[in-house]
Amino acid sequence: MQWKTEDTPERAAFRDEFKSWLKSVLPEGWMESIDSGDDEAYSKVRGSFNPMGWMKTMGDSGYGAPLWPKEYGGLSGEPWMQQIVREELGSYRLPLFGINLLGVGLAGPTIIEHGNEAQKERYLKKILNGEEIWCQLFSEPGSGSDLASLSTRAVRDGDEWVVNGQKVWTSIAQYAKFGMLLCRTDPDVPKHDGLSYFVVDMHSPGMDVRPLKEMTGGSVFNEVYMTDVRVPHENIVSEPGDGWRCARTTLMNERATLAGLSIDTSSMMGGSKRDPWQSFLDQIPDKSDPVVRQEIMKYYILQQVKEITAFRAQAAKLRGDQPGPEGSFAKVFNAEYNQAKSSFSMNAAGIGSVAWRQGDKAAEDRAASFLRARANTIEGGTSEVLRNQVGERVLGLPREPEVDRGIPWKEIKRSG
Ligand SMILES: Cc1cc2nc3c(=O)[nH]c(=O)nc-3n(C[C@H](O)[C@H](O)[C@H](O)COP(=O)(O)OP(=O)(O)OC[C@H]3O[C@@H](n4cnc5c(N)ncnc54)[C@H](O)[C@@H]3O)c2cc1C
Repeated sequence: MQWKTEDTPERAAFRDEFKSWLKSVLPEGWMESIDSGDDEAYSKVRGSFNPMGWMKTMGDSGYGAPLWPKEYGGLSGEPWMQQIVREELGSYRLPLFGINLLGVGLAGPTIIEHGNEAQKERYLKKILNGEEIWCQLFSEPGSGSDLASLSTRAVRDGDEWVVNGQKVWTSIAQYAKFGMLLCRTDPDVPKHDGLSYFVVDMHSPGMDVRPLKEMTGGSVFNEVYMTDVRVPHENIVSEPGDGWRCARTTLMNERATLAGLSIDTSSMMGGSKRDPWQSFLDQIPDKSDPVVRQEIMKYYILQQVKEITAFRAQAAKLRGDQPGPEGSFAKVFNAEYNQAKSSFSMNAAGIGSVAWRQGDKAAEDRAASFLRARANTIEGGTSEVLRNQVGERVLGLPREPEVDRGIPWKEIKRSG
């Protein structure tokens, strides 16, 4: 069951307009095959789908980011427009962001909020239409949850900054044209105050991107080594020393991107090739066993809880309320739900979960979902750290002790 708000006449008109537009740009038969539940016909039309071409089509239309100002490629619209676009894209199994997930979801909103006019002009449209892919150069080997402790240094040299340091877990850096780079520019002040936020060209001399092999077999994230990388001063977002404020905007948008919808980043980037619940059912070979059936029902109920919680958050957003605790809660809940559900389908498949005939799509999906889900409780803020936030901000529990508060960064004891 899909939870949706009831449309006012204005919203119904926008939904119709967007669906007509979809019909005019999608391959013939795409929407009809989904509306009629004809999976075979859908698989045929899906074959002709080009994700990069789709990003450009969405980006050029304004529907790719309804909240962004018109002059930068959006619709200067309302949150409910964004919601309707997301609902219809989900219904028609289309990607929400495409490969430029980090550009559209994180970099764009940060530049809109903190960037200057020249930066908005230069970057935003090419983010939206997928012409320039972005990555997020925040985490370091010694700084993840405690991001503000990071060590990568940027030192001013005339009209440029010289960057030295190492980042890690940098998703899609190998495909990116630009990175959102958080650096330490002043080690003499407390950790949050000495950071600056740069736009860095990933093809600059001194930039070394090394893909990491993951247990899924893929290589999405990377180590990035920077040796004397020169970044023009005009690439600083906001002011030197204001990096933490800009980074918080990026992180808030990251959480919203991952939590507000679904934790399944592959469907956000590539669109669901199949109905996700049906794919899950297909991964369970024997559905006649009563215990297995009971478990399937348990996950179905939890799925409804997940969707109703997301629906409550969306409804509050549509009313114009401030974001509530649903964001952190949803991220923790979705991540743990996803892990438990994918572990269950592995257990239910028994030996079939570790060995299968070549080309068995359900078995491949089952193993891939299980392995990918391990990252869900880490990416975009770990479940432990989010629980701390819920404890402090929602339940009013005492704050975590901050042993380094007010101490200049260079005097703080650090690992890494
Ligand atoms: C799939 C994936 C993609 C990613 N992509 C990017 C990217 O593109 N760019 C980027 O910059 N980063 C990226 N990251 C990195 C991610 O942001 C970090 O992994 C995350 O913030 C945790 O940091 P860490 O790995 O250093 O773990 P640590 O912070 O070292 O944490 C280790 C353990 O200690 C726990 N812990 C830490 N602090 C506390 C505390 N105060 N209270 C209780 N427990 C605590 C954590 O929950 C965790 O279990 C990605 C990570 C993943 C998994």
